[in-house]
Amino acid sequence: MKIIVIGAGIGGASAGIALIRLGHEVVIYDRMRENHPVGAALSLWSNGVKVLNWLGLADEVAALGGRMDTMAYRDGLSGETLCEFSLAPVTSATGQRPYPVARADLQQLLMTTFGLERIHLGKEVVAISESGDQVTVTFADGSTDSGDLLIGADGARSLTREYVAQGLAPIERTYSGYTNFNGLIATNSAVGPPDQWTTYVAGGKRCAVMPVAGGRSYFWFDVPQPAGLPYDRAEGIAPLEEAFGDWAPGVKELLSSIDPATSLNRVEIWDIDPFHTWVRGRVAILGDAAHNTSPDIGQGACSALEDSFALGILMATNTVSVQDTLLRYQKVRSERAGELVLRTRKRGDETHGYDPAVTQAWYDGLRTEDGSGIMRGIIGNITESPVNLGGGVL
Ligand code: FAD
Repeated sequence: MKIIVIGAGIGGASAGIALIRLGHEVVIYDRMRENHPVGAALSLWSNGVKVLNWLGLADEVAALGGRMDTMAYRDGLSGETLCEFSLAPVTSATGQRPYPVARADLQQLLMTTFGLERIHLGKEVVAISESGDQVTVTFADGSTDSGDLLIGADGARSLTREYVAQGLAPIERTYSGYTNFNGLIATNSAVGPPDQWTTYVAGGKRCAVMPVAGGRSYFWFDVPQPAGLPYDRAEGIAPLEEAFGDWAPGVKELLSSIDPATSLNRVEIWDIDPFHTWVRGRVAILGDAAHNTSPDIGQGACSALEDSFALGILMATNTVSVQDTLLRYQKVRSERAGELVLRTRKRGDETHGYDPAVTQAWYDGLRTEDGSGIMRGIIGNITESPVNLGGGVL
């Protein structure tokens, strides 16, 4: 079968690997001209790592992953430790250690594993059509390609989603109320221990560091603010100094460790209400195109990987028809992914001070937390994954 994938991100590249390993002819098109992932790093929770293991990349991903043994919350202003505990229960409950990884490293691994010669960059899809048993994409340069199946892994502003959801109520993005700044620094123990995910919180704002491979740490800052504020890259960390300049010494140390010229990204955070139409004819959406979520529980890319897992298993096991396989994929994935979007949104609302009393109650709870409540939440996000339960895939 010839399969066209739009988008070479984590979703498209992982789906591509799963499908090519089943013996299909797969080609990926992406409008980007070079591999430039948005964002510096991400946490791959055990469900996401398990999919990468299933794709045959266990050793490679372990080599890219930071060693994250403990987790701590600190008061942003005083630096006082509110709670600190081991992350070992995540590994023992799920059977897989989670890894923070640099995005560029993961992206490069996925693209080279899929085969760079099968990825065509600088190809923007502008139209999709179906006729008989073929689906055709038209590119901005006027060229076309046709296949038996099309996977739209074209991200949060997906064109494929528009095609699939034609005739339904418009699917709109919702602003999550904050802007995220992120990047990589050389690991600095004055910010947090090298093997710890350390988060500073106060006034609805937060910043954190997590280890990735190579003596580096992923950092991020969340700043609640309206959407659409102007920002010029030349401003560098000025907005962070304004928002966090009077925070604890560990945060000041983090600010002074950032090199804005080499590693600083700024992204407004939006999500999309869950929706359950992911398939039309021989076309399906996958990843952020199907379930754009805020990063508050670090499950967006993990969900995209779950999609690739489910699609791969279903393509390997169903023989009735392409459409039947895609509809089963939609059925097993849309509810689970949508539920994670809502879970993430709830967590973002709780932590960003939109209702100061709710966020204060969360801070108060952190002071008495022994880790068990937070572990329950993280493990709960993972264990309902189809990679652990079967989830109706078979
Ligand atoms: P994308 O990465 O957006 O890829 C889509 C690709 O499609 C792009 O390369 C684009 O160029 C291409 N494309 C789009 N339109 C077209 C077109 N018309 N023609 C051709 N190509 C097209 N997730 C986690 O699991 N853990 C985390 O810790 C985490 N942290 C995050 C932190 C932040 C700040 C953000 C914003 C997100 C985070 N996420 C995290 C979510 C994660 O980044 C996304 O869920 C994931 O990258 C989505 O991958 P994707 O392949 O679906 O989409």
